[in-house]
Amino acid sequence: MHKDPLLPITTVALPGTSLQRACRLLVLLCALHLSVTLVYYVSGGELNIFQYFVQNQQDQYRRFANATPSSVQNLLKPGYNAKDQEIRNTSNMVDLPNCPETSPLLVGPLRIEFSVSVNLEEVRKINTNVREGGRYTPEDCKAQQKVALIIPFRNRDEHLKYWLYYLHPILQRQQLDYGVYIINQDGDVTFNRAKLLNVGFAEALKEYDYQCFVFSDVDLIPMDDRNIYKCYSQPRHLSVSMDKFGFGLPYTQYFGGVSALSKDQFTRINGFPNNYWGWGGEDDDIYNRIASRGMSISRPDAVTGKCRMIRHNRDDKNDPNPKRFDLIAHTRHTMNSDGINSLSYQVIKKEKYPLYTKITVDIGSPR
Ligand code: BGC
Repeated sequence: MHKDPLLPITTVALPGTSLQRACRLLVLLCALHLSVTLVYYVSGGELNIFQYFVQNQQDQYRRFANATPSSVQNLLKPGYNAKDQEIRNTSNMVDLPNCPETSPLLVGPLRIEFSVSVNLEEVRKINTNVREGGRYTPEDCKAQQKVALIIPFRNRDEHLKYWLYYLHPILQRQQLDYGVYIINQDGDVTFNRAKLLNVGFAEALKEYDYQCFVFSDVDLIPMDDRNIYKCYSQPRHLSVSMDKFGFGLPYTQYFGGVSALSKDQFTRINGFPNNYWGWGGEDDDIYNRIASRGMSISRPDAVTGKCRMIRHNRDDKNDPNPKRFDLIAHTRHTMNSDGINSLSYQVIKKEKYPLYTKITVDIGSPR
């Protein structure tokens, strides 16, 4: 009952201590929230920023993405050099764990362009962990495969620079134990791509116990580092989605550009033909060899397998080979006597550069 007209109808129990306590609690909660957020950013923030960069800024991250986490630290140490790494590699090799099935360093799609020319000295500086002759071995784990990269070559120095610039970091992120071999055809007789590839196989094996051989044209660059330059249970075709062919295959049996064969697969087909002089047909012959030995072609999907070709005019002394159609029609008969078992050549010069080994060879001339 409301008795005194001078008193308010309802009495609000005024603030006093309980409201102050509630306010203090609120402020405390805010402070706690703020500090938790702060700690989160200080510990994880840097990593997230780095990840952002590796996915989006191919050029800026290159120096870091080249390396496994602890070798990033090494790269930053003053006085670090590849020689140190070589010593550690040989002494620690037995203790290293196997590299994972899928490298954690891969970043996926890459920006590939050929508008700015490449300075090889700069490429060397960002690949300090590549040893003389273009050799690399992962520092923190034992690579799943020892891969020789074989490039048939003549007068394409500008293209080679792009290849080295793009491929070295990719191959390192793929955690491969690899070596780069440029097989340079001496003289100016007609070019013979497949014979040069045979020479590359033979010469690389003289240097190291390679189990896998990736045969690549010098003007082809992958647009995704998940297209692993290694060998599979079946011969692998890697350049399956070239810009030149509208990012697809020109025909189902196409095996040109970049391919990978294990030592065993290569031996089973007696290597590649030696008698395709000039442009065309040799890759179809290799396809026929593979099919005739009951093997099939393994390929990445059309997105992972995207690649760019450096546009250029046809080289001198590499006109289309008019004999190619006839030769391809007879692969099954010729492959047993023409191949790695009949290969003959002469090494003119072997040069070890910081990023590759160049072997100049006399491979004779068409008969
Ligand atoms: C040739 C191959 C070539 C392909 C794509 C074929 O006609 O025989 O050597 O790789 O065309 O250009």
